[in-house]
Amino acid sequence: MALNWLNQPRIRICLSLLAFIVVAALGILAISWQTAQGLRRDAGASLQQSVRLVDMTLDNAARATAAVENLIGTPCTQDTIQALRWQVASVPNVRTVNLYRQNTIYCASLFGERTDDISTDKYVGGKLMLMSGNAVTPNHPLIAYRHDVNGSGVLVGVDGYFLHNILELLSTHAYLILQVGNQWMDNKGKIHTSDSWPEGERMVLTSEHYPYEMRLVIRKSDHWRYIFDYATVSLILFPLVSIFIAFMTYAQLGRVGNPTSALKEALEKKQFIPYLQPVVDGTNHQITGAEVLMRWQHPQSGLIPPYQFIPLAEESGLIVPMTRLIMAQVRDQFGPLAAQLPKNFHFGFNICASHFKDLTLAEDCKAFINAFKENPINLVLELTERELIEPGEITHSLFNALRRMGVLIAMDDFGTGHSSLAYLQKFHIDILKIDQSFIGRIGTDALAGHIVDNVIDLAKRLQMIIVAEGIETQTQVDYLAPYRLEFLQGYFFGKPVAPVEFIEKWLE
Ligand code: C2E
Ligand code: CA
Ligand code: CA
Repeated sequence: MALNWLNQPRIRICLSLLAFIVVAALGILAISWQTAQGLRRDAGASLQQSVRLVDMTLDNAARATAAVENLIGTPCTQDTIQALRWQVASVPNVRTVNLYRQNTIYCASLFGERTDDISTDKYVGGKLMLMSGNAVTPNHPLIAYRHDVNGSGVLVGVDGYFLHNILELLSTHAYLILQVGNQWMDNKGKIHTSDSWPEGERMVLTSEHYPYEMRLVIRKSDHWRYIFDYATVSLILFPLVSIFIAFMTYAQLGRVGNPTSALKEALEKKQFIPYLQPVVDGTNHQITGAEVLMRWQHPQSGLIPPYQFIPLAEESGLIVPMTRLIMAQVRDQFGPLAAQLPKNFHFGFNICASHFKDLTLAEDCKAFINAFKENPINLVLELTERELIEPGEITHSLFNALRRMGVLIAMDDFGTGHSSLAYLQKFHIDILKIDQSFIGRIGTDALAGHIVDNVIDLAKRLQMIIVAEGIETQTQVDYLAPYRLEFLQGYFFGKPVAPVEFIEKWLE
């Protein structure tokens, strides 16, 4: 067949590997696309959440400044200090509250009255400054919040601890930082001034209320972590699926273009069906039996005749299960109609030589006969003269078993092979089926007529039941009439048809 090259081992391995690679690549692509989407979605959500939380933290600072706004410019009395301290004690996240004028702190919640310069130009938008520490706690980061009213105002120190917490909590999927001006806090709470961000995909969200932005970097390692956390099943499944598909490809390719496997598949799907051709009485032309002929009901090619597949079926040994399949079908379809069959009706099956080495044949014949107990039939096994059976232990006992059951043996295509009288006797042949090639010659020329006469004469002398096959014309019927042959078969009486049609046409 044209596709035979596909089932060469090397091609099969290469194509299977290719299938593995394609499926695995598609799998990796699908997983990474899906996780990238998921990661971006989750990271975006973290980013929004972080802005919300930082805004809330700064809202507290704004609240503290609003509460002491009326003290701006007033002297740093004990009451003022008390009021400042009250904010530190009562407002969350606020660590210090200081009053300043002309860029100098003059009243602090912690130290009371003091003077300390502030560099206003460092405040981003005049409002926020990230600091790695202050005079009290040099290594503890904080964010300074400034509320200015004409050069005087309130300075609130917001504890960096809260901000650090937010960053750390929301950094599960990616690297999150808080950027204020050119300074930024990483998720460990460390303040940086450089631009040395980690490599990766970046996302930025600016606060609508305060001059800062949250930035997020999705690093390669974040992708992998995300895949392991959220796509574990796919990660295990895809390689397995790829391996499975590679194996399937290998197996399927073994079948492509391999006609035996096509037969095997057809057998599994029970695509082999029986057709039946009537056999009539030689004298009154009434139906007396049927020959079962196999057909392949192919889903695409339609009905395939036996010469296209029987030789291969015999060669591969599949003919045995195929024959068993059609025997069972005829048994199941006609068994229930036993009463409708004419008396001594016979069913003929074509059996190949190798089948006569298989002991299941006897069992199948028994089951077949038993299905017609109501109105016993004759079961005929036809073996072709072109393919002689070799005598042997099993064959011998099989033939004996068949005889005991009453199974009749027919020599098919008689006249085309080389069976001897000894051979016919050894296998207890009951019926001779004169090959249709001889019948087809009737009336063509004198020599042909002579050959036909001889074959019939030989058959007669063997004293066996004779069937003439392939009768197509009235001339042939008339020519054979004087010989008084027991049975006739051919298109003249009826073509092989499907069981349903056979029942309609011949049994009702
Ligand atoms: P066969 O056993 O000699 O079967 C008779 C063949 O002649 C059938 O062809 C039948 O349709 C055809 N035939 C019957 N009457 C006439 C006629 O008047 N004129 C002409 N020209 N042909 C006629 P089919 O069904 O195509 O089968 C061909 C061969 O395939 C069979 O020859 C038989 O050797 C084989 N075969 C069919 N079914 C089976 C089977 O189940 N098992 C085995 N082993 N071989 C089978
Ligand atoms: Ca036959
Ligand atoms: Ca024949």
